[in-house]
Amino acid sequence: MGRGRKARAGVAATGALPLGQPDIKAPAAEPGGGHHDLSPSAFPKWAECAHYEPSREPGEEAERGTRLHAAYAAVMGGDKGAIDGLPGDDGRAVEWAVAETLRLFGGPPESVERKLPYYDSEGELYFGTADAVCGEQIADLKTGQIRDYAAQMAAYALAIMDIKWARGATTHLLFCDGREVVTREWTAEEAIAAVMPIIAARRDALEGKGPGPRPCEYCGWCGRRDTCPAYAAQIAPAEAAIVSPEAFEFSAVLADPERLGRFLTACRLLRCDYEERAQARAREVIGSGGRVPGWTIQRRKGRESLAPGVLDDIIHRHGWRVLIECASVSIPKLRKQPGIALEPGQVIEGEPTEALVEEKGGAA
Ligand code: SF4
Repeated sequence: MGRGRKARAGVAATGALPLGQPDIKAPAAEPGGGHHDLSPSAFPKWAECAHYEPSREPGEEAERGTRLHAAYAAVMGGDKGAIDGLPGDDGRAVEWAVAETLRLFGGPPESVERKLPYYDSEGELYFGTADAVCGEQIADLKTGQIRDYAAQMAAYALAIMDIKWARGATTHLLFCDGREVVTREWTAEEAIAAVMPIIAARRDALEGKGPGPRPCEYCGWCGRRDTCPAYAAQIAPAEAAIVSPEAFEFSAVLADPERLGRFLTACRLLRCDYEERAQARAREVIGSGGRVPGWTIQRRKGRESLAPGVLDDIIHRHGWRVLIECASVSIPKLRKQPGIALEPGQVIEGEPTEALVEEKGGAA
């Protein structure tokens, strides 16, 4: 049983937290003994919608996250060859995360993939698995875009303070794709204020109490979205266009900014979620000899690439210039190469472009 400050879910008020962010890691592959029912990796999602459930289909992003976490832990444990099989930029991303961890800790961690339990007066309230721990510092590797993981970090910080009888803790989020570190120092009070309301809301949701599901940025990863009325309700503004096109007045949608916003949200959901998954299912059906009326699979020529050694031969015979004529250079990738520091004036910026994007939190 842990010691020190004990707080029960629902006791503390939520503070507005500047930090924090989905944990892109396959749930079934969480190191250190699987997930607790109240897993801190779900806290950022429950902070938005307490009815969120992790999807059982990990997807490519989550599988990549699991691979990178495994490599990070192995390198931290002394197996430098663990990154050898990683494709593309993944090996360099892990190398960067390892180097940052050593720099931030001032040396090697005392433990990797460390289970961090937190106990309240009734027993183990939750546990999570931190990627690396050194004293009261925690480093956690994140793949994908920079998101708000403050609630998860608060849970880890609270657990390490409890384990070590410490008055504070520091968490470092290592966003290896963006090569960015987000560090935050926590007091116990701050961590309790961030964690306990989320646990209370989650328990209410499981007992059918409290507010209902609230669509948020995590719906796409939620295992409940196919049966969630709040999620499905978002496509209602586009339903009339499909179900009763004769009665649908598109000009009325265009004339009303409120309706236009909801219609665009519905279209985005139909296109980016329902259409993608319907296409995957249609490919399965047709691929196994079935029929989906109006649809077929068209075979296209595969992407061409040069066989090993051909590039060397071309450069040898024709020099680099011929390649420059045929290739484009990724400036962000070039900037990440060791020893490359582009000076002002060496990069020419094109005209800025505009894109229509959804505001965080949608139209609410
Ligand atoms: S799909 Fe429903 S339950 Fe899941 S996060 Fe979205 S609103 Fe919440």
